[in-house]
Amino acid sequence: MPTLNGGCLCGAIRYSIDADIKELRACHCTHCQKASGTGGSVNAVLPSAQVKFTQGTPKRYDAKAESGRTLYRFFCGDCGSPLYSQRQTAPETMVLRIGSLDSPPDNLKITAHIWMRSARSWDAIDPGTKQFPQQPDAPPATK
Ligand SMILES: [Zn+2]
Ligand SMILES: [Zn+2]
Repeated sequence: MPTLNGGCLCGAIRYSIDADIKELRACHCTHCQKASGTGGSVNAVLPSAQVKFTQGTPKRYDAKAESGRTLYRFFCGDCGSPLYSQRQTAPETMVLRIGSLDSPPDNLKITAHIWMRSARSWDAIDPGTKQFPQQPDAPPATK
């Protein structure tokens, strides 16, 4: 499996992934809208052990989710690029912002949309995908 490389816009944070990304999940929650400045986020859910930071240390913002859980949001402290998020209670899983990859594989597709109840009318959604009004059960790690 190929190693994928990525990082933030300014290059201060760099990482590499040794995992096969199979599906993407789009999140339309209001926190992702604020954090991205757009309709939400598109992510690969990966085992944290397969992502290695090779340069820099992301800054962390602790956000209290509607559920009461704390979600860690990691970003570049220099350029502000969002990089990944992680539940406080599940550090073994990383929800990686797929746009931070240098060259995402061509064949990747969004297979599920979550937090559809706060999706915006100006955010295009493929009707052929799975959709959830909120967070479905704990995100499965890629096999
Ligand atoms: Zn940066
Ligand atoms: Zn979200």
